[in-house]
Amino acid sequence: MSPVSFKAACPDCDARFELSPSALRLAIGASRRTTFYSFTCPECGMSVRKPAGERIVELLTGGGVRTLRLHSTV
Ligand SMILES: [Zn+2]
Repeated sequence: MSPVSFKAACPDCDARFELSPSALRLAIGASRRTTFYSFTCPECGMSVRKPAGERIVELLTGGGVRTLRLHSTV
């Protein structure tokens, strides 16, 4: 099994890098607006948060990224 990595870029310092699943967090909210993934830029230490569309959510969960579900299922 080859290790999974995700390409990401920092909007603050414009660094491009690859992140392992453990470096990413995915938060799934009730709506598209509250669904996002986050990571810390390894270059500048900035906390980056980006909206996650359905395809990204699929990719991240499939890659073993820790997922937080923000909406409760009633
Ligand atoms: Zn950065």
